[in-house]
Amino acid sequence: MTQRISHWIDGRLTPGTSGRTSPVYNPATGRTSAEVELASGGEVDAAVARSVAAAKDWRHASLSQRAGVLFAFRELLHERTAELSAIVTAEHGKVLSDAAGEIARGLENVEFAAGVSQLLKGGFSEQASTGVDVYSIRQPLGVVAGITPFNFPVMVPLWMCANAIACGNAFILKPSEKDPSASLFLAQMWKDAGLPDGVFTVVQGDKEAVDALLVHPDVAAVSFVGSTPIAKYIYETGTAQGKRVQALGGAKNHALVLPDADVEMAADAVVSAAYGSAGERCMALSVAVAVGDVADRLVDALAARLPKLKIGDGTHPDTDIGPLITAAHRDKVAGYIGAGAQAGATLVVDGRDEQVPAGGFFLGTTLMDHVTPEMTVYTDEIFGPVLCVVRAGTYEEGLALINDNPYANGTAIFTRDGGAARQFQYDVEVGMVGINVPVPVPVAYYSFGGWKASLFGDTHMYGAEGMSFYTRGKVVTSRWPDPATSSVDLGFPRTR
Ligand code: NAD
Repeated sequence: MTQRISHWIDGRLTPGTSGRTSPVYNPATGRTSAEVELASGGEVDAAVARSVAAAKDWRHASLSQRAGVLFAFRELLHERTAELSAIVTAEHGKVLSDAAGEIARGLENVEFAAGVSQLLKGGFSEQASTGVDVYSIRQPLGVVAGITPFNFPVMVPLWMCANAIACGNAFILKPSEKDPSASLFLAQMWKDAGLPDGVFTVVQGDKEAVDALLVHPDVAAVSFVGSTPIAKYIYETGTAQGKRVQALGGAKNHALVLPDADVEMAADAVVSAAYGSAGERCMALSVAVAVGDVADRLVDALAARLPKLKIGDGTHPDTDIGPLITAAHRDKVAGYIGAGAQAGATLVVDGRDEQVPAGGFFLGTTLMDHVTPEMTVYTDEIFGPVLCVVRAGTYEEGLALINDNPYANGTAIFTRDGGAARQFQYDVEVGMVGINVPVPVPVAYYSFGGWKASLFGDTHMYGAEGMSFYTRGKVVTSRWPDPATSSVDLGFPRTR
């Protein structure tokens, strides 16, 4: 019998009742490994009702009790990384070391959130007026939801839930239906760490479950990570319902390689960032902008590295690149390669020609040169192992390409010139910038987020902005009565 992946409500696995399911594949074999339940609106409503009750209790947990749960969860996550990596690889396809890497980056958020006692400290002004003190406090929102993409089934949920729970909220996760099992493993670990039932909930599902969360009056805030059209939809629908929404979208990240760059080091970095996780990262570098005479040298150095990358099952220790998430996605990416060639790009390496294991959703690595901005390989987020090289005459031309792009998630400059790097950091209109660092995902004590079509909303995710997103501020103005100075005063309160 096919395995069923169900919901996690009130601290336990809860079978679905909608009768709707979606297949989950092992992308390395192409075979169906399970069916995931897809929640109905009614099931979401029931999960929210339980979360409301749990949130009412959890907000009373002291800061040190909350920190205690986060420390325990951190230890479990650390101890059980290998098991969780295997779950990620089996449904996502990424290599085991990459899965362990995403868990490690997610764990940083738990460590950050464990400092909740420090992070939620408010301000205090003694004697703001005579005998009057003013202070600020931050309180939880209640029930908050997170809707996450397939490409980071552990890290992205941890970007959200660690802070949300530390702040005293109940958190409902709606993971991607393509790799849903990691969410249940996280749920069990939260329980084992001592989190009360109902504070962390998983509702499996698709658009129906998402829509039910977006319109539910008891869901106070929604964090979303996924593609740009859905991010925009989530933002517009959620905010129209009066909710707080942060919705992170897609990307087209450029590497700007200046003529003075160490070409070998830049090629190592760009290859790692373009093809790691088969290019299915929102911070993947999918465009290399080669400035001036570096272009031929860079293309040669990139091309020289590709035959050495081993494509195969992510569970094999010598595999560098696993499969894509589905057959349909693999075919879509292959279609972009054909379209690029037809539009006049030079196929230096054509991934469609590469020998790959049979059965799984594999695609070889592709390198395209002489790509120009009107080609679909340039305009669209491909989300696969395809790197486009665009040639630019000058730094200014390269910069203009980046700043004209509708996406603005991440970017990186490769140069040995500190002044040029600083100028780039100053000029570039992108949310996350690497200087000789190809995947500049901020550490947990900064915040993650792009600009323009890569983010809808005002707050970036995790870090200080995450703590702010999951709480609301309150300011208290206080005077202890002093009978000696008490009198009726109908004037507008002024400081004295
Ligand atoms: P997706 O937008 O298809 O799905 C994301 C989530 O939205 C899933 O949980 C899915 O079930 C749900 N969803 C899908 N269609 C929906 C609809 N019509 N209505 C309501 N909900 C819907 O994204 P994906 O394919 O899972 O992930 C890849 C995308 O995510 C890429 O575009 C990538 O750039 C982006 N991403 C962005 C970041 C970032 O931080 N900016 C991080 C990771 C991934």
